[in-house]
Amino acid sequence: MNAKLFAYAPAPESRSVVEIASSYGLFIDGEFREAAAGKVFKTLAPASEEVLSEVAYGDEADVDAAVRAARAAFGAWSAMPGAERAKYLFRIARIVQERARELAVLETLDNGKPIRETRDADLPLVAAHFFYYAGWADKLAYAGCGPNPRALGVAAQVIPWNFPLLMLAWKVAPALAAGNTVVLKPAETTPLSALFFADICRQAGLPKGVVNIVTGDGATGASLVGHPDVNKVAFTGSTAVGKQIARTVAGTEKRLTLELGGKGANIVFEDAPLDQAVEGIVGGIFFNQGQVCCAGSRLLVQESVQEELLDALKRRLGTLRVGDPLDKNTDVGAINSAEQLARITELAEAGEAEGAQRWSPPCELPGEGYWFAPTVFTGVSQAHRIAREEIFGPVLSVLTFRTPDEAVAKANNTPYGLSAGIWTEKGSRILKLANQLRAGVVWANTFNKFDPTSPFGGYKESGYGREGGRHGLEAYLEHA
Ligand code: NAD
Repeated sequence: MNAKLFAYAPAPESRSVVEIASSYGLFIDGEFREAAAGKVFKTLAPASEEVLSEVAYGDEADVDAAVRAARAAFGAWSAMPGAERAKYLFRIARIVQERARELAVLETLDNGKPIRETRDADLPLVAAHFFYYAGWADKLAYAGCGPNPRALGVAAQVIPWNFPLLMLAWKVAPALAAGNTVVLKPAETTPLSALFFADICRQAGLPKGVVNIVTGDGATGASLVGHPDVNKVAFTGSTAVGKQIARTVAGTEKRLTLELGGKGANIVFEDAPLDQAVEGIVGGIFFNQGQVCCAGSRLLVQESVQEELLDALKRRLGTLRVGDPLDKNTDVGAINSAEQLARITELAEAGEAEGAQRWSPPCELPGEGYWFAPTVFTGVSQAHRIAREEIFGPVLSVLTFRTPDEAVAKANNTPYGLSAGIWTEKGSRILKLANQLRAGVVWANTFNKFDPTSPFGGYKESGYGREGGRHGLEAYLEHA
């Protein structure tokens, strides 16, 4: 049979649904403006290395202007009845829905992730977060955060590049619902969707200064979290930077939440529905090219089904389509940056050097851009770097276990504690293990499922505080 008969025809999403300007300013006090020092940086499409736009680079003076604008807006915004604030959040959610296609294409271009994911996961979740927190804005007293809850003030928020608009939504929606004003710094490789969000704030008629966006790099982020007039710092990113921020904030009155790295275990028992488990494993580590803090990057499989499961997994990986992120058939897109690609490559090489067996399905990678083939390592021991360090790429490390106790011990043998998955037909085993696993989220017979009503966050070096759900409001409120 000719396999080509069954090949997918290209199905590219139209790029013309989004208009990207050649340059963007900082969004401060409701207006776009150039950086005080006039500095700019470029943002690239990781799939092609094409320059998408030039973006203002914010320094200390710009951060100060943004914090002042947020402070000036705080009084009126926090005093506004919750039902009125809710209307703005609803309006933002509706505009995100109306502009979802444009934003999905933009995010795919700037981040490199497949359009199927931005269209079907990122954007619906962004809108859902604003809808969800809009519902809380007039019910803060019933959120379980104590009597007479009050907004904290100005929130400094720093986010990473893996889910640019979604991480913005996780941070901005609860902050605004609770009556805080915001200065947000997006990641340097993915600034565009936050700047489009600034435009959405204007479209929604949000009062000036309630949301400010300052683009830049780590130094910009450091100025923001170190600014003396912010009341709350919310950070999502690497554990190393999280620790630095914790040191900066220590001894001040600033409140802090940290959402950091992870090394999630996806545990498959011999009684699990293996076909479904294979889908969960694939979704757990190849969704967003594995650049997911809660990725199931360690597969723990019960020894008795190891062979059967790995055969099925490899067959399934052979059907993944790697390539143009704008093609609607693409499963695995580009790695976000040359730096991230170098990090993944280095760790994969360490895996081989330390004696694990490396396998990838045959796949042709595009000549330009940043690409890494889906990769599976078997024969991994707990001491290997690929079992201990966060790779943040499409690389799965496979370990085995014999008993549930061994599975728990191996799953918890990590400095991180963000996520885990359990695959078994036994409900009682799921409940028992979920209690034993030191992970902020434990999925059962599924993986990487997100919902705005559900709190998310880590233990140990994965950080502290929760985002999402009513727990997510707590981080932005104090009470009398
Ligand atoms: P990163 O820590 O390098 O950068 C994250 C953000 O922090 C960027 O905006 C960056 O400019 C800024 N930054 C860098 N240095 C800073 C400093 N000294 N002070 C203040 N801000 C600074 O992380 P990354 O490589 O962009 O993102 C990947 C990491 O994020 C991974 O480790 C991943 O696990 C983690 N992550 C965690 C979650 C979660 O919810 N736990 C979600 C997504 C990503």
